[in-house]
Amino acid sequence: MSKWPIGVFTSIDAGLGVHLDVVEELGIPTVQVHAPHEKTRTPEAARAFIDRCRKAGVTVTCVFGGFEGESYADIETTARTVGLVPEATRAERIREMKEISDFAKLLGCDTVGLHIGFVPADRTSAAYKSLIDATRDLLDHVAKNGQRLHLETGQETADHLLEFIHDVDRQNLAINFDPANMILYGTGNPIEALMKVGRHVKSVHCKDAKWAPERQRGESWGTEVALGDGDVNIELYLRVLKSFGYEGPLTIEREIAHDRARQKADIGQAVALLENLKRTIG
Ligand code: MG
Repeated sequence: MSKWPIGVFTSIDAGLGVHLDVVEELGIPTVQVHAPHEKTRTPEAARAFIDRCRKAGVTVTCVFGGFEGESYADIETTARTVGLVPEATRAERIREMKEISDFAKLLGCDTVGLHIGFVPADRTSAAYKSLIDATRDLLDHVAKNGQRLHLETGQETADHLLEFIHDVDRQNLAINFDPANMILYGTGNPIEALMKVGRHVKSVHCKDAKWAPERQRGESWGTEVALGDGDVNIELYLRVLKSFGYEGPLTIEREIAHDRARQKADIGQAVALLENLKRTIG
């Protein structure tokens, strides 16, 4: 694969990504895929999806897990419902995430991704330690499939994410860096965060956002916007990725599934911006 191939976050039948017809139309060579619903995680569905990707010249670079009952309605609800952190749903979601890893293997994909949830702040707490154990259990299954697990950023500060990765202590745990999430969740300046965690970054989202007003940060969402229109500074973002030797896909994410026409137009704008920056700094 060439350096910095353009990608886009895609959904088969679940999640907020664009559909594959948009990927084909825009000629985008790589995709991350939101895992399909359980009923469609079958060998037949995997074969059909691979065939379609092959015909379109598209490579699947990561399969993202997502679960029933998750809600990003506001930050408090996200903390309560998302990922492996909520204990009531953890065992079932670990089981499902292992199944998603198996499905990703059927797609020939060596990476699965996940919003793990809001990692408990206190490293000595029982809640933190049990999350470490659960994450290791999942990682060992993922390793048997020859895969890595990438944690999506945003719900923790860069420092706490580094602590968590250190404490889990598994070779196949890495980061999917999303600069806009740092702004949306109010967890820190994305460029400063990337400089801290850059050596663990194995995949990225190219997404942009505007900060919430200062006194509401961390309590109310910032605003996701088209790439280049927000506060990330995409040129500097790519320069810092380059400084760490990152050469993987630049996966565009635009989470406005309710407005497919605008989603497609904004992805077109993002492709043009990234192609231009690749020429100047790649
Ligand atoms: Mg993202």
